[in-house]
Amino acid sequence: MVFGGIDIGSTATKAALIDDSGALLGSAVRRSGVDFTASANLALEEAAKQAGVDQKDIVGIFSCGYGRKNATMAQETRTEIACHAAGAYHHFPQALTVVDIGGQDNKIIKLNAKGMRTSFKMNRKCAAGTGAFLEEMALRLDLPLESLDQLARDAQEEATLGAYCTVFTATEVLSKIRDGVKVEALVKGLFRSVVKRVMEMDILEGTVVMTGGVAAHNPYLAQMLSEELGRQVLLPPRPQLNGAWGAAILARDFRARQLARE
Ligand code: ADP
Repeated sequence: MVFGGIDIGSTATKAALIDDSGALLGSAVRRSGVDFTASANLALEEAAKQAGVDQKDIVGIFSCGYGRKNATMAQETRTEIACHAAGAYHHFPQALTVVDIGGQDNKIIKLNAKGMRTSFKMNRKCAAGTGAFLEEMALRLDLPLESLDQLARDAQEEATLGAYCTVFTATEVLSKIRDGVKVEALVKGLFRSVVKRVMEMDILEGTVVMTGGVAAHNPYLAQMLSEELGRQVLLPPRPQLNGAWGAAILARDFRARQLARE
């Protein structure tokens, strides 16, 4: 049996198709753009093609994320919190602290050993520490977004950036460029700023898992957070798909409960 999850984030729309063991059969990531329903339909179509399944054979589809109500093909919606929790717990079935860095918000979800949520914190008031922050900085530095991870890894030094706000950090970065600070050092300083914003949100206890598009494309952030915490931070197999994968897991579990009642 095939189950689907659609995560319509403010920046990216993700689709994941799984089998009843929870293994990924197909997936897609697209920009959410201005027509969330169209993005969700196209993502599902692409994921189904990759999985080699007919959409009518998908037993259940759940959606989550900022635009979850726009996923008209979904039978049910679930919160991003529930889906990120289910996705992370599927890969690491133990007590967890899930750090999700998305395009426009950061979330910290704590789960007990049974996968039940024990706390949740979210930053959505400001771009600091989110994907939008790195996108804005890449633009200011005239760098492709894809190049940041390698540049941070290559840095011999690290620029100290004191500002909290994205706008003031941009001013600080420009003045450091004028002073001759190397671009690699600046990017590493920007990554440190993301790590600090996350650490300010909550105490990161126990096993920490990073999810979302930012960690997916910048795994060096997980390494930097590991160094700050003094223990290994984990990444699931496809960090950006975590919410969609979790939504598919919840669709599967919902179906199993239905079958058990019949
Ligand atoms: P949301 O669910 O909030 O829409 P995601 O978790 O999908 O966000 O993450 C989107 C973020 O991922 C973007 O803001 C960007 O920072 C990062 N990202 C996406 N694609 C790339 C890429 N090719 N290279 C580097 N970063 C990327």
